[in-house]
Amino acid sequence: MLQINNLQVYYGAAQALFGVDLEISRGETVALVGANGAGKSTLLKAIIGLVRPSGGTILFKGKDVTAKSANRMVQAGLALSPEGRQLFGELTVAENLELGVLALKPGRTKTKRRMAEIFARFPKLKERRNQQAATLSGGEQQMVAMGRALMAKPDLLLLDEPSLGLAPLITDEIFAIIHQLSRSGVTILLVEQNAARALSASTSAYLLANGRIVHSGNSAKLLADPKLRQAFLGAASNENPAASRLGAAGLTNIRLEKPDMTHKTFMPSFKNKEELEKHQLKGLQWTINHAFEGSSFYRAQLEKAGIKPGDIKSLSDLRKLPFTTADDLRDGYPFPLRSVPFEQIIRIHASSGTTGKRKVLAYTRKDVDDWVGFFARAYEMAGITPLDRIQIAVGYGVWTAGMGFQLGCEEIGALAVPAGPGNIDMQCRFLLDFQSTVFCSTASMALLMAEEIHKRGIADKINIKKIIYGSERSSISMRQKISELFGGAELFDIPGLTELYGPGTGIECPDHDCIHYWADYYILEILDPDTLEPVTPGEWGEMVVTTLCKEAAPLVRYRTRDITRIIPGPCTCGSIMPRHSRIRGRSDDMMKFRGVNIYPSSIDSILSGIPGLGSEYQAHLSRDDKSGRDFMRLVVEHGGQCDKARRMELGKEVVHQIKKQLMVTVEADVVEYASLPRSERKSQRVFDTRIKDDIV
Ligand code: ZN
Repeated sequence: MLQINNLQVYYGAAQALFGVDLEISRGETVALVGANGAGKSTLLKAIIGLVRPSGGTILFKGKDVTAKSANRMVQAGLALSPEGRQLFGELTVAENLELGVLALKPGRTKTKRRMAEIFARFPKLKERRNQQAATLSGGEQQMVAMGRALMAKPDLLLLDEPSLGLAPLITDEIFAIIHQLSRSGVTILLVEQNAARALSASTSAYLLANGRIVHSGNSAKLLADPKLRQAFLGAASNENPAASRLGAAGLTNIRLEKPDMTHKTFMPSFKNKEELEKHQLKGLQWTINHAFEGSSFYRAQLEKAGIKPGDIKSLSDLRKLPFTTADDLRDGYPFPLRSVPFEQIIRIHASSGTTGKRKVLAYTRKDVDDWVGFFARAYEMAGITPLDRIQIAVGYGVWTAGMGFQLGCEEIGALAVPAGPGNIDMQCRFLLDFQSTVFCSTASMALLMAEEIHKRGIADKINIKKIIYGSERSSISMRQKISELFGGAELFDIPGLTELYGPGTGIECPDHDCIHYWADYYILEILDPDTLEPVTPGEWGEMVVTTLCKEAAPLVRYRTRDITRIIPGPCTCGSIMPRHSRIRGRSDDMMKFRGVNIYPSSIDSILSGIPGLGSEYQAHLSRDDKSGRDFMRLVVEHGGQCDKARRMELGKEVVHQIKKQLMVTVEADVVEYASLPRSERKSQRVFDTRIKDDIV
């Protein structure tokens, strides 16, 4: 269809194209990709006859058309949908479309027929046929520009930057149309800065830099080529956020080469706080740019806050950014915060939501690689080596835990025993037979195992040296008990949050007085949950996180609801990674009771469904330090006028309903109406005394 050989173009003395070769076959969609100023527009102008080449040839359908006029090129079967649309704003949609066939001078009937075809392809334009083009949205204007070019029924359609300036969702729509055009046999040359989009939408591609074709070939292969990232697109690593325009376009998703196995450390390369902060600023700038370019949700949030990507000049600008909450994730169900095209997403994970919608998080290849890399770092900090055998007794499946522990284990080169949760008998058997050296689970599971090991008297026959546990808070006495019954194992608390990749975003220090967290992947703020102002360093507050290189679902000031504090100053272990305390609790009221997440709102609704009860209640959670078992006692008021026998009955009904609906056993006391304290603000209904010790 089109064959370009050794094309040279000069603007005055400056050479813009240096011997470009390019070929397009009939029916193919070919992408021409490159940064701003690479020469893409010049090449298009040379093809359509708007600039005169000073060397080389252009063959179109076998005929030499080098330096033919634009009019002649349209008559020959070429049409251009130009960069910036270039519509006539005062003319209607229909009038703009008619301009597309002007050079061909067709009759009225033919023009009408063509227009009907265009309206069939773009039903939105049919609705707006008599509307002035200037009043259309950016996406609709792009449709008019494409429709106008298609009016000429071209053999080859040149699409120049069709997604430029469009919001992510509209870009999705435009690319869906390009896919359709391509499937219906239209030959397309697609010129795009949005490289990942263009490569995904095309069969083959040419990569242009400084007026030269530097790579070409099958688009899918180019998309998967690690060299592409380094050599040409240089895109969006933490070290190279200058390429973030391309990074925002999804280019960061191009697969990284697997780190070679001679790689000895997963610790970061920065040497001091200044280097870390420089890295964080670059990451923050990249993230805001990427979120703005890639996600309709974030774009709306940032626009509402009056923030443009270029506004982030220093780390303190973080405080200008709007917050993101769990509700935003639920509202965006099923793919909240999505900031890359679907074709770049390789996996999703979801939180174990007990009420309402789950929080679903998407991952690109790079997201998974990053997660696996820093999970390996967590293992490394706990002193785990390829000689260890890690028995992973956490849930595998849609939640993040199993995958994280597993892939991190493989990354560090240790032997994984993917046991999954529960099944105490099997776990004990594996500990004995496989001589596992590391045990990973929740704190309760670790306690359960510890008691079982003690009961069976096998502590001296197993080989567990380390226990990595997470996902719930634990008291010092509980930790001591676990360690003791496991024959003196060393405990490591590992934090984790589905929204923030999953577990492994830090780990308890080998000196056991803090959690070191991976500040090169996210920024941690500790804020007062009520005022949302920063607390004094060292004070307790809510953990708010902003990711620095997360692609598929970046987090901007995400409110985790976890309560912790920064521990200032250097650590005795020598690590320069900053640190926070073990998680003390959550700023919202969710209770974790015997492995079940319970919201006070579910207790509210169960109690209000029982006739005869009042609206006031208290939930008291306690822990038997000997057995480590948790108890919940509900103190509920009756609705007024109620004898002792009836109160007993009501109490039984409460226990029964809670058991039936929440699957947990509680005790219930029904007390006199109005005997519980009331408050004009929020009454305290949950009293959790399970953790009495000081938490480090
Ligand atoms: Zn330390």
